[in-house]
Amino acid sequence: MDSAGRRTRPARRGRHQNWAIRQRVLCSRYVRCSLIKSRVAKSANRKSSTVASPLRRAYDLMRARFGHQHWWPGDTPFEVCVGAILTQNTNWGNVERAIANLKAARVLEPEKLFALSEKRLADLICPAGYFNVKARRLRSFLRVLVEECDADHEPVSQRAADVSSAEPFKTCRQDAGSTLACLQRLFAGETSAVRDRLLRISGIGPETADSMLLYAGGHHSFVVDAYTKRIFQRHEWNPKSKVQSPKSSSGYDELKQLCESVLNEKPVLERLDYWQDYHAQLVMVGKHFCRTRNPLCDQCPLKPLLPGNKDNL
Ligand code: SF4
Repeated sequence: MDSAGRRTRPARRGRHQNWAIRQRVLCSRYVRCSLIKSRVAKSANRKSSTVASPLRRAYDLMRARFGHQHWWPGDTPFEVCVGAILTQNTNWGNVERAIANLKAARVLEPEKLFALSEKRLADLICPAGYFNVKARRLRSFLRVLVEECDADHEPVSQRAADVSSAEPFKTCRQDAGSTLACLQRLFAGETSAVRDRLLRISGIGPETADSMLLYAGGHHSFVVDAYTKRIFQRHEWNPKSKVQSPKSSSGYDELKQLCESVLNEKPVLERLDYWQDYHAQLVMVGKHFCRTRNPLCDQCPLKPLLPGNKDNL
């Protein structure tokens, strides 16, 4: 109101004032958002630092009981890759029988295996179970290896890959020259890029891809399996508090990330062997003690690390 009692318009804010208000609102939103993000990151870090000590101690306990496992049980990197596909949903004994058939038929090489009909391949790998599905999956993998990674079929995209940057094949006997070259091309490049390349192949999921990367490709890519999920859940090391089925694929990446961020205390050169053996040790615990029903905690090397036994650390 003015001095004469007339209603007056509120003073118009200048353009600069409006701009300043908008900036203040945006700033406060940004600060709120940053605070939330930093809280989430802090809670993830807290979780990692809480489980770092028990996870590292777990390895010492398992290693003391079982000794170094020298995994993967395969003679060559190519055999490791074939085994990684055949072992899906079956036990290793069945895989060994299937691989023995391939060796007896003298076809355990990419070109020879790919030249077989799907029916013949399925017959040979029959002991591994789900043989029709696995024959299809093997052929999908072989197609990439033979048609995209063989020097004779060398596509431009692969030719550009820096083969010398890959450091595979340190853990077992070498494959023959042409197979070795195919595998070097397959595994050449950054771990995440190679992993994506493998995951694009039909029938290769995260566990199979990581097994190939870690044990055949020489890449630092931790393997998570049903045993790992069960053991982590029972010891409350799982980053997700809600209970998940050990067979469910959800939570795979979180668990993998947790292990990779926590089990990094060794120098890079020793870390590959450490992660290879860590997974092998978890398989030993899972197979012999941490059964789905009636786990044998009293005899298990990880008993001191059960949630109720924290004092024993
Ligand atoms: S058997 Fe018991 S102590 Fe061993 S890993 Fe499983 S829950 Fe832990």
